Amino acid sequence: MPAVTFSPDDRYNAFITTLDQAETGPGRLSGIAVAVKDNISTRGIRTTCASRILDGYIPPYDAHVVTLLRQEGAAIVGKTNMDEFGMGTTTENSAYGPTLNPSDPSRVPGGSSGGSAAAVASGMVRMALGTDTGGSIRCPASFCGIVGLKPTYGRVSRYGLIAYANSLEQIGPMAQNVEDVSLLMEVLSTHDPRDSTSISCPYRHTPDPTVTGLKIGVPEEFFGEGVDPRVAAVVWEAISRLEGEGAEIVTCRMPSMVFALAAYYVTCTSEASSNLARFDGVRYGPPADTKRPWHESFQERRREGFGTEVRRRIMLGTFALSSGYYGKYYAKAQAARQQVRNDFVRLFRTVDVIAGPTMPTVAFRLGEKTDPLSMYLSDILTVPANLAGVPAISVPCGTSEGLPVGLQVMGQWFRDEKVIDVAAAYEQGVSA
Ligand code: GLN
Repeated sequence: MPAVTFSPDDRYNAFITTLDQAETGPGRLSGIAVAVKDNISTRGIRTTCASRILDGYIPPYDAHVVTLLRQEGAAIVGKTNMDEFGMGTTTENSAYGPTLNPSDPSRVPGGSSGGSAAAVASGMVRMALGTDTGGSIRCPASFCGIVGLKPTYGRVSRYGLIAYANSLEQIGPMAQNVEDVSLLMEVLSTHDPRDSTSISCPYRHTPDPTVTGLKIGVPEEFFGEGVDPRVAAVVWEAISRLEGEGAEIVTCRMPSMVFALAAYYVTCTSEASSNLARFDGVRYGPPADTKRPWHESFQERRREGFGTEVRRRIMLGTFALSSGYYGKYYAKAQAARQQVRNDFVRLFRTVDVIAGPTMPTVAFRLGEKTDPLSMYLSDILTVPANLAGVPAISVPCGTSEGLPVGLQVMGQWFRDEKVIDVAAAYEQGVSA
């Protein structure tokens, strides 16, 4: 097979690394250009997590998902920009500069898989891999007007993913339409014994866009305080369309939304403080000064290698896990997380899927949000799916102020097929 040549005009800074000659082969993804988020290991291709601390790191092995892409003939054309280690909602926290939103380059593309979303939205690639710990596939999909799926926890192997918060995150597909997301999902979801959370539940599915008799739960909290009324109106319109196609809309409550965001931020920072301990300036990155006492070079390397947001989260997580505070923060967050799961269990006794907006607003202006707390608040609608481990998709459903809005559909554990079907129904209904 001839190699795929790739020389994009990367005006949105979607890529950290591009490969001008990408190998391809026979298979379901033969000749298709696929971009891979830069926290997913690629053998022989630098993998930075958009962090200085991984400067010069070239993985000696492929992540399981990368092996699968190669087996199906995909041409891996580059590694996409992201928030450092996945920590962020805008792709502004990158050591390689922010990615711009192709719908309006004065705006952020969302994050943390902003480079993957921009690469797909601008047509540089047909498909991309993202990762979603608290919304990082769905948020940029929503802000850039593409489709992105966070699969059920355990359905896609994370072997070779550089961990941020491993009890929450999944690798997932991003593309311009539901059919391509479904195709990529078929390739990605195979059992892998090298990831102990990987479950054997292959996804083999052709999207079925019929929603007749389907019960869609709409939690009031997803249209509550902080959600831009203009975004809410666009999403309601989309949900009504599904009703017009035969679905039944059931309004419901999700009381755990009151503490979901706090539970998420305590959990993800705690896990990050532990996962990022391995970056000690010895094993990765530029060689440490061995003449100096170890703790001095360790401190300096971490201070210089990590960006502000990453350092903030390591400190928050270390605090939450420390003796005397553990019960007050980490243990409480786990109890709250259980409440979120319980809410989903209860709701799924009476509805098939749950729908609402993906993000409370449209894409922010670059540099607009400087206060970490207000940034964290924008994740409120995406974190419940990660806390519970359920599948969730974002599908474009119109515009507000001329910018894309995403409809989020969450499903029951291991019913990724169902959220794909509902997204397909919406997509086809609109184009009909
Ligand atoms: N914005 C969320 C955070 O900053 C989600 C990130 C993600 O899913 N990787 O943690």
